[in-house]
Amino acid sequence: MASNGGAAPILISGGGIGGLVSAYALAQQGFPVRVFEQSPEFREVGAGIQLGPNVFRVLEKIGLKEAILADAHRPPAQEMRDALTGKLITRIPLDDKFFQRFGQPYGVTHRADIHGTFLKACQGSNLITLETSRRVDDYEERGGHVTVTLNNGEKVEGRALIGCDGMWSKIRERVVGDGKPRVSGHIAYRAVLKREEVPQDLWRPDVVLWAGPRTHFVHYPLRRGELYNLVAVFHSDHYEEGWNAEGAKDVMWQHFKMQVPQVTRMLERIETWRMWVLCDREPVKNWSQGRVTLLGDAAHPMLQYLAQGACMATEDAVVLAEKAAAKPDDLASAFQDYQQARYLRTGRTQIMARVYGEFYHARGVTAELRDLAVGSRSVEQSYDGIAWLYGGP
Ligand SMILES: Cc1cc2nc3c(=O)[nH]c(=O)nc-3n(C[C@H](O)[C@H](O)[C@H](O)COP(=O)(O)OP(=O)(O)OC[C@H]3O[C@@H](n4cnc5c(N)ncnc54)[C@H](O)[C@@H]3O)c2cc1C
Repeated sequence: MASNGGAAPILISGGGIGGLVSAYALAQQGFPVRVFEQSPEFREVGAGIQLGPNVFRVLEKIGLKEAILADAHRPPAQEMRDALTGKLITRIPLDDKFFQRFGQPYGVTHRADIHGTFLKACQGSNLITLETSRRVDDYEERGGHVTVTLNNGEKVEGRALIGCDGMWSKIRERVVGDGKPRVSGHIAYRAVLKREEVPQDLWRPDVVLWAGPRTHFVHYPLRRGELYNLVAVFHSDHYEEGWNAEGAKDVMWQHFKMQVPQVTRMLERIETWRMWVLCDREPVKNWSQGRVTLLGDAAHPMLQYLAQGACMATEDAVVLAEKAAAKPDDLASAFQDYQQARYLRTGRTQIMARVYGEFYHARGVTAELRDLAVGSRSVEQSYDGIAWLYGGP
């Protein structure tokens, strides 16, 4: 471990997945860190999260891979099916062959489990201070320090500030200043069932995606198979900030009622849906300014169609900590190095996530062409197609 202690702490705004893993990765490099979370407790919403092999590569570096895998489910394959006919479009194995190709597994986990692992790791570090009900409202950089202003008016000084405050980041307003996120016109409804609540004939160990016209529906097991995650996505111009509003059932049903019984029977099981209005932004490469930088959704918010937002935040955290450790006395320069190392990879993921969304929601001839293109690929060709992402960072 480098000796970067003894100085003022690095301040982190936001204690989501990105904020906590950044705190831990920085503390591992010897930096004292203070994390400010606006909510009264550190917690995550009830939903699943897919973890590509790229995230396990960086989790291994910070020693948390096994802890994350202990709660995860390891799906044997990803399947894409036609939601109107039930036909299998493609099946990509995530088994030994996948592991041999990418050197890491594929996992699915509960957001609370991965967040909980990061939280526990942070709580075990005497370099990290975790503070709840503390909203970072503003900051000022002066004389080699950054001073943040909290919601109670208190001012706290640190040697640098990392904005891990998500899609609607206040720090980004100052650093990048590109207004509100882009509303995609897509909306996601999510729910988690207990395994016994899923009809036995519908329970599948795989990640299954039902592609329909302007919709898709994904399901997979969570928490060692004890839970089942469901996400239904459709086109809608509804807009609401945040990740926890209740979604009206009848609105969703209009989009799915003509789909195969494997889809409709599953959707009928859900009493209450939570809703996410899906937003992203254009990629940028100016998310660091002096001793202030951004990370995760604050830096490069993306649609979830590649299942990579949290994976990218985790990659960011490990790269940022490495760059900071290389230049502990010049964090402004380290933040430029971090941004330089990350912006093309995260930008590509932002853009490709949009393309995948179009692809899942294709209709008519476009859908036929999609089915032909992906259906005719060998397993190796499927792996080649995603190697730019899974082979990194
Ligand atoms: C439907 C859906 C499915 C997804 N599936 C996947 C998936 O399968 N795999 C994957 O890798 N990613 C997935 N993602 C993306 C992933 O959830 C996000 O990219 C990830 O949570 C971003 O983490 P973050 O820490 O950057 O931001 P957030 O999780 O938004 O955390 C920000 C934190 O900052 C706090 N905060 C905000 N403002 C302030 C402030 N001013 N002061 C203090 N605290 C503040 C918030 O309360 C919050 O705790 C999905 C997203 C959606 C919407």
